[in-house]
Amino acid sequence: MKTNIKSEILDWARNFYTCKQKQDTEREFTKERTLNKRGVLWLGQTCNLRCFFCYFTNKINDKDHPEHKFMSLDKAKEICFKLKTVYGNEYVDIQGGEPTIYPPIYELI
Ligand code: SF4
Repeated sequence: MKTNIKSEILDWARNFYTCKQKQDTEREFTKERTLNKRGVLWLGQTCNLRCFFCYFTNKINDKDHPEHKFMSLDKAKEICFKLKTVYGNEYVDIQGGEPTIYPPIYELI
């Protein structure tokens, strides 16, 4: 029998989130809202993958899109510095596109 991997993944995801939603209804949530200490750094919408669920494909496929190109290392460092010193963040989530293909990723980390 020929299987369709895309529909298998979608079925798995639907089942996973349905289970998670059931768990969530049994959980008690706090009413207190606090800012967390995680900053987010978006390096640019450059990616070597083409996930079918990606909501950035227009920016990834369009090399002239203003958000497509990875930012410079200096700018990324400046943002990290600001996240730490101005906003008091203790962690930074580095996102793309795909940050692991950002050429100076090791230096940035
Ligand atoms: S940006 Fe993320 S979701 Fe989109 S194609 Fe790349 S890896 Fe996949």
